[in-house]
Amino acid sequence: MPNSTILVVEDEADIREVMLYNLQREGYRALGCASGEEALREIRTAQPDLLILDLMLPGSNGIDICRRLKGDQQLRLIPIIIVTAKGEESDIVLGLTAGADDYLTKPFRTKELLARVAAVLRRGPLRSESRTDGPVNLPGLVIDPQRHEVLLDGAPLLFTATEFKLLHFLARSPGRVFTRELLISHVIGDEALILDRNIDVHIRALRKKLGERNDLIETVRGVGYRFSQRRAV
Ligand code: CA
Repeated sequence: MPNSTILVVEDEADIREVMLYNLQREGYRALGCASGEEALREIRTAQPDLLILDLMLPGSNGIDICRRLKGDQQLRLIPIIIVTAKGEESDIVLGLTAGADDYLTKPFRTKELLARVAAVLRRGPLRSESRTDGPVNLPGLVIDPQRHEVLLDGAPLLFTATEFKLLHFLARSPGRVFTRELLISHVIGDEALILDRNIDVHIRALRKKLGERNDLIETVRGVGYRFSQRRAV
């Protein structure tokens, strides 16, 4: 979506400039700032459609900024892509749990940056309405919550209520990575029994029932799970 405004929050000037250059060349209106405080001011005036947020910043770090935005009624729908250094998986989990929509690991290629930006702008922010009952229609896969029915390549599959909710939730946002914490709170509910909170068990059961198509649900090491984007486009 060219014409979208993207705010890049990155304290390393050379990285920021390269990102701005590439985003602008792609047709986006890209703005940059070097600290979280500056970003919070800029967000109110520029009203960006997307925030690219480095986590290691002077002053308030990216996680703080993420939490503040997601806690603000007016700003919480601005999608956020967090940027971390390689190997900082715990930061990625923190950021996604705080409400970030996707992440990039430094160093990243321009192609990857642009692909993530396009995907997040297309998907929009994660909304709590994701729990609602809309059907999912993907090539070879139909999920109909009204009828509690899953058709995989035309054949019906039987799932438990939790497996069904999990599959439906993941499949609504192909390519989006969800942390275990997020899946538990969105799919299973915070009040669930301790036993139910082991998301890996549900995922394993779900994959088993998907048979040859078990690669529809991908493990993102150290982070969580996502529904395959390859099969869904
Ligand atoms: Ca930094």
